Amino acid sequence: MQGICLLGATGSIGQSTLDIIAQHPEKFELISVSANESVEKMATICLRFKPQRAVMGSKKARDELAKQCEGLPTSFEWGDEALESIVADSAVDQVMAAIMGFAGLRPTLAAIRAGKRILLANKESLVTAGKLFMDEVEQHKVMLLPIDSEHNAIYQSLPQTSLGAHQKDVSKIILTASGGPFRTWSLQEMASVTPAQACKHPNWSMGQKISIDSATLMNKGLELIEACWLFGVTPDEVDVVVHPESIIHSMVSYIDGSVISQMGNPDMKIPIAYGMTWPDRVETQVPALNLVDVAKLHFESPDLERFPNLKLAADAWFMGGTAMAILNAANEVAVDAFLQGNIDFLDIAKLNEKVLSSVDAVSVSALDDVFEADLVARRFAQDVISRGSSL
Ligand code: NDP
Ligand code: MG
Repeated sequence: MQGICLLGATGSIGQSTLDIIAQHPEKFELISVSANESVEKMATICLRFKPQRAVMGSKKARDELAKQCEGLPTSFEWGDEALESIVADSAVDQVMAAIMGFAGLRPTLAAIRAGKRILLANKESLVTAGKLFMDEVEQHKVMLLPIDSEHNAIYQSLPQTSLGAHQKDVSKIILTASGGPFRTWSLQEMASVTPAQACKHPNWSMGQKISIDSATLMNKGLELIEACWLFGVTPDEVDVVVHPESIIHSMVSYIDGSVISQMGNPDMKIPIAYGMTWPDRVETQVPALNLVDVAKLHFESPDLERFPNLKLAADAWFMGGTAMAILNAANEVAVDAFLQGNIDFLDIAKLNEKVLSSVDAVSVSALDDVFEADLVARRFAQDVISRGSSL
């Protein structure tokens, strides 16, 4: 029996993780859960799974949740300290890091330091803290299983050892991208898209922020950096290929000319279950892939003119140090501003470019450097938006 701490339980990854836990009660027990402010959703989860601990983002949300769940044995808590404490409980074997954005960094690091198996959905924590994150993983000898479907596919396409996937004889990593909802749109057409249009992903059902990132291709940019940290490569060793059907979730090209891929219907329950059960597999109730029905798979190069975020991410990697935290912070502010109707869709990449080129990146010697860079970049981005300066 594996004890699970689920960070970001009320989100899209959270829901798919709960589905896997519910399908396999003999294998998994939900020990603890967290959310920010979604009290109703959290109450439903607590009443169904009766976890030992539930953490909300504020005292108000905690109090409201406790009221709705009266009579349950669950301990209702709130705030950063509680979040960093639930990941370390002795009953917890695995921590699903599925908080959205930079906010996931501290609890994910706490889970690494507690020596738990890390199921990493929260790509922003790895992108921003990069080397420090990977150093902690090595120091505490934890299993780090990527949940992001592409990285999970790469992991599955590598030779497996008792210590995890092993990178040997690899010539290139091929990271696939769906291209998002505006893959075939002109810049002119994209200029006036609404948040609702941008959130409507052709193949995946996901949270708002990652859906917007998929539409701007910043998601692929973050994933490029994520792949570099996870698999010890540089952007030059990763080819991004647009594959609109999202059936091949990524590939590994070997020195002998072989290419190994992982395929499946686009459903996050597959990579989630793989991470939770590695090196074994369990049923997920995802319909089997029928290649005859799919019939055709297409591939094309990404268009960096229309989707400059992908290039910005590679630039940030080569700049090094806090550049990736700066870019991520700019993007979180930009996506939020777009969702609030304060900037246009194409302004997201423009703001990212402006912040990355204006805020100086420094080398990272401690975690504080990452938090400082995040703060400075956020303030700068917010300032640009509130001044209404042209981008
Ligand atoms: P959602 O927006 O659906 O859910 C986010 C979760 O994080 C919610 O539980 C939310 O709580 C919580 N949360 C948000 N902000 C904070 C905060 N400041 N402090 C604490 N908790 C917070 O996101 P997704 O599930 O789509 O994505 C989660 C992570 O997984 C992201 O990093 C994303 O990039 C990654 N990912 C997601 C995929 C997907 O298919 N959805 C695929 C690959 C990666 P509340 O509901 O209360 O706001
Ligand atoms: Mg992905």
